[in-house]
Amino acid sequence: MAESEFQKNINKQAENVHYQVQQRFRVFDELLSSDEIQVQEHARRALVRLSDVFLHDKFDPKNWSPERLDKLARQLGVDSVYIIAPDTTVVATNFIPDLGFKLDTISETFSTYLHNLFNSGRLEVDRINVSSKTGILKIYAYYAPVNSDYILEVSYDVKNYLARNRSSRYVDFMFGDFFTEMTKTNPLLDQVDIYLVNNYAAFPFLNSTPGLALSELPEIPETGVMTISKDDDNIHYYSRADFNRTELHSAEYLAIRTTFNLAHMHYLMNKFMILSVLVIGAILTLAYLLISQLFNKWIMSRIFRIIAALERSAEGDYRDTLNINRMDELGLIAQHVNSMNARLSARDEELKEARLQLENRVKERTADLRLEIEARKKAEEQLIKQAETDPLTGVLNRRAFAAKAQKEIERARRYKRPISAILLDLDHFKQVNDKFGHLCGDKVLVELAEIISPCLRTIDSLSRHGGEEFLILLPETDDLEAVQIAERLRKRIEDHEVKYEAERFKVTSSFGVASWDAEENDINATIHRADQALYLAKHKGRNQVISYDAESFF
Ligand code: GH3
Ligand code: MG
Ligand code: MG
Repeated sequence: MAESEFQKNINKQAENVHYQVQQRFRVFDELLSSDEIQVQEHARRALVRLSDVFLHDKFDPKNWSPERLDKLARQLGVDSVYIIAPDTTVVATNFIPDLGFKLDTISETFSTYLHNLFNSGRLEVDRINVSSKTGILKIYAYYAPVNSDYILEVSYDVKNYLARNRSSRYVDFMFGDFFTEMTKTNPLLDQVDIYLVNNYAAFPFLNSTPGLALSELPEIPETGVMTISKDDDNIHYYSRADFNRTELHSAEYLAIRTTFNLAHMHYLMNKFMILSVLVIGAILTLAYLLISQLFNKWIMSRIFRIIAALERSAEGDYRDTLNINRMDELGLIAQHVNSMNARLSARDEELKEARLQLENRVKERTADLRLEIEARKKAEEQLIKQAETDPLTGVLNRRAFAAKAQKEIERARRYKRPISAILLDLDHFKQVNDKFGHLCGDKVLVELAEIISPCLRTIDSLSRHGGEEFLILLPETDDLEAVQIAERLRKRIEDHEVKYEAERFKVTSSFGVASWDAEENDINATIHRADQALYLAKHKGRNQVISYDAESFF
């Protein structure tokens, strides 16, 4: 398509070039016509002088060697001299190629012309013509004297003549650039050739190219331009041109040949094609890379989402639900991940529930155990208390008292502190029992403990020493202080009214006070002394306090 458009364009250019060459040839022919007139003058004179030479010399062709004629030609100012015999053969000439040439073979027209010329007395100068054998551009002049068997002929080499009368530069231009300068402005136009075609050959009109055999020249139509493509790169165009003349003796016509070379154009087009292929290839490669990149990105992003979901599942987070847009391999995997997450999530819930139940059961059990422990502790404390206290009055029993006293003694010894003890015994208690009953006696004992306890410090200890006897241990207390305490207790007891059923009565108590001696290892000796003091208090009339230290038992 592009090729044929291109071809059309070249054809058009060729037609244009041929038209221009034809036009230039007309100009060329016109420009030479003034020179031809001069040549005609020279020729006439030369022929007249030549005939004079012949008339004086009884003509015999054998006498006219080429050398002699050459000398004569120079004398006459012509390039060549010819003697033409009645059979039109060139019998003498200094132009060697034409020697013996039978001129009526050139063309029928020329044959007739020559035969009519013999003995006619005419002198004729032709216009520019072509040497049939050599193609050299010439001007021929003929003279056929009356009563002569020969025709005398002189010729001028047109180029030599012009070089002499104008300049060689002029010749070079007229037979060169004047026709070929188009090749310089048209890069596709490689060559312009003009051939003078006759019956023998096609002779180059411009000297630049070699002659062609007639077989090498195509049959060129009278008008128009014909195309012959020699090969892919070269196209030859042919057209005809004629001299502007009435008679043409030896040149049939002028063949104009132009050669257009498309190699460079083909090179550019091939280059363009290769470039196009490369560009398209590059675009396709880029497109492929881009698409595969996008595809990878799309696939990889799906894979990464699946991996992320699996990682979260591995960390125990099963809440992920993957979007399944396509049920391809990845879609299938995503579906499996979703159902796996769903199962794991359900199992997780079950585990949570089970753990909660277990925790509740443990809590309940722990609460039960705590209650049990507390109950046990209470029971234990109760047992301990029972083991240490008197069941009737709740005060310490003798064994607990002894242990407590021992601790206090060790402490008092360490810090060199005093300890005292008060032993008290209800007065005439037997009578209470006897009078109001044993239960009433018990009540009196309980109330007695209740009266004493509030009067003591926390470091003090109250114990039931036996029957209706109570023993009080007073750490950090010397004998005098102990006596004061005992006196206060005595007064309280004395003032207290016992109420039992309808009965109202009062009881008294006797007190024996003694202090611990730092050298004693236990409290027993102190109790013994307190007992001695108590005995004295009874003896002295009861309801009184007697200090062992204050009395003299010895
Ligand atoms: P005194 O002033 O000399 O001490 O005279 P008393 O009657 O208190 O003398 P005694 O010590 O001989 O008598 C103590 C009585 O205390 C004997 C006993 O019946 C009574 N007794 C001892 N233990 C209890 C008891 O736990 N409950 C009751 N109700 N009476 C007891
Ligand atoms: Mg007693
Ligand atoms: Mg008593």
